[in-house]
Amino acid sequence: MAHIGVDTHPTRTYTAGELRHANVGEAVILKGWVDTRRDLGGVIFIDLRDRYGLTQIVFSPQDNVDAHAAAEALRSEFVISVKGIVRDRSAETVNPKLPTGEVEVRAHELVILNESEPVPFTLSAHEEKQVKTNEDLRLKYRYLDMRRSDLQNKMLTRHRFYQITRKYYDQHNFVEVETPVLMKSTPEGARDYLVPSRVHPGKFYALPQSPQTYKQILMVAGLDRYMQITKCFRDEDLRADRQPEFTQVDLEMTFATEDMVYELLEGHMKAVWKEIKGVDIETPFRRISYDEAIQRYGSDKPDLRFGLELQDVSGVFEGSGFRVFDSVLDGGGKILSIVVPGMGDQGRGYMDRLDKDVVRKRIGASGLIYFKLPSDGSETVSSVKEHVLPADVVQGAIDHLGAKAGDLVLVLAGMPPKVYDQAGTLRLHMANELNLIPEGADGPWEFLWVTDFPLVEWDEDTQRYYAMHHPFTSPRAEDLDKMETEPGAIRARAYDLVLNGNEIGGGSIRIHNRSVQNQMFKLLDIDAEEAQQRFGFLLDAFRYGAPPHGGLALGLDRIIMLLTGAQSLRDVIAFPKTQSAQEAMVGSPDVVDDKQLEELHIGLVLPEEEEG
Ligand code: ASP
Repeated sequence: MAHIGVDTHPTRTYTAGELRHANVGEAVILKGWVDTRRDLGGVIFIDLRDRYGLTQIVFSPQDNVDAHAAAEALRSEFVISVKGIVRDRSAETVNPKLPTGEVEVRAHELVILNESEPVPFTLSAHEEKQVKTNEDLRLKYRYLDMRRSDLQNKMLTRHRFYQITRKYYDQHNFVEVETPVLMKSTPEGARDYLVPSRVHPGKFYALPQSPQTYKQILMVAGLDRYMQITKCFRDEDLRADRQPEFTQVDLEMTFATEDMVYELLEGHMKAVWKEIKGVDIETPFRRISYDEAIQRYGSDKPDLRFGLELQDVSGVFEGSGFRVFDSVLDGGGKILSIVVPGMGDQGRGYMDRLDKDVVRKRIGASGLIYFKLPSDGSETVSSVKEHVLPADVVQGAIDHLGAKAGDLVLVLAGMPPKVYDQAGTLRLHMANELNLIPEGADGPWEFLWVTDFPLVEWDEDTQRYYAMHHPFTSPRAEDLDKMETEPGAIRARAYDLVLNGNEIGGGSIRIHNRSVQNQMFKLLDIDAEEAQQRFGFLLDAFRYGAPPHGGLALGLDRIIMLLTGAQSLRDVIAFPKTQSAQEAMVGSPDVVDDKQLEELHIGLVLPEEEEG
């Protein structure tokens, strides 16, 4: 037998996913990993695996004694090369689940190209063997994790998405331009990752939170249409399922209008869903304004796969004499309701848990009020005693809502915007309870444009306005006169693309006028000096014939997650960061040599280690 590692065979003639009945009789060479090995009555069966599939290899002493003897040594994940003849499988061993399941290769030669230690978790492509493995282990051994077809398929979907995207935008005259990774900070609402400059002591580059300013400059430069599939970096506080580095499809167009952006993106999504999922999605997508989204769904990224809409019942309860409602209404608050069908018979225990664990603890509302309408048509059960909230007032609300026997009416009272947010979270919780949110990636696909966002939002803590989108978003022309007087009421020319309750893209028509941009900076508490220092290049560019322009960026990782039904962004990124922003396989971030720090003119001031 040849030495391990020396490949004495010529190149492979087929991959492990290719052989069919038509190949029977051919002499072939296959190379790949040992997926599974079974010993049956002196005959050894191997499933040979590569990216393309699985092929059954049979080592029988009758075909070749040496190959059979060599195969005794094989274990899972050994890398091998096999020479043999393609044969039909016997009728009872045909595997209709495998594309190669009609045939097997009877081995005449085996070369072991490399051995493998026992792997820390099973990689078998046989689905029934794919047990749930601890994610930390999977991330540490990402090269093994990625041998599994599940993860490989996600990478392949991602690859398809790149190809469709590049082709689509190329056909629409977009130019792919790479913008710098070492740049100056662009605010997108997160902290920057900084890179110290060795040759400019005390100075830092920032990694892009997005290429926003560069793409605008490209429009000033006359490129007309720009696209880039690009990494963005945001040092955010660790929240569930965020990645500090993530990928955007970044787009910008000169002379853009909202409708042009919508149509372009609808075409893109249509092409992606058709090619990847074989699904015709309907266009144009629905559009609703930010205000309507908040009022009806309590969210600026509503999931439209189910109803359970919020209804404002403030008017119904006006003057009810119920202290809780009166004080909320007197303070300018709202009373919101959700009618949940089929839950009118829930017992006391369920309702108490909903109130305590969900509404108070998770949602942070002060309490839940409810009316149960039993399915047998018997009397309504109110969570508020009758002498406190009279039955006729409750009945008035039920009539107003059109609730019927079997429904559960949930009521939250509080101050906007918080109460909308709380009701929106309760809506999602109830949809989950009713199993209205399908898992997996078989649709339905509810795309939606959310439009007319406010330009800025007021922050109580810091007592200042923040850009709802980013500082380069244009106010609507008719709201321009409110810049000084009523900034909170200005509508922005901003839009988000939402799919099944996920924001998958966002953008805007931009400011292209220097004085409006300066007004915007002022509104955001960025004084003229700071504006010049941070964004002087953009303000300068606006002096020289900057055309109107606008665009959008798509969150590529999240789209792939939805397309593949992945549970987490980590499952669609080859080498993702964990929730604590670390990469387990290489062990980043890591300490560096003192010498490196010295060269970078950096001294460390570390937080004191906590005792114990
Ligand atoms: N730069 C924006 C973002 O990253 C997208 C855009 O406005 O085009 O969200």
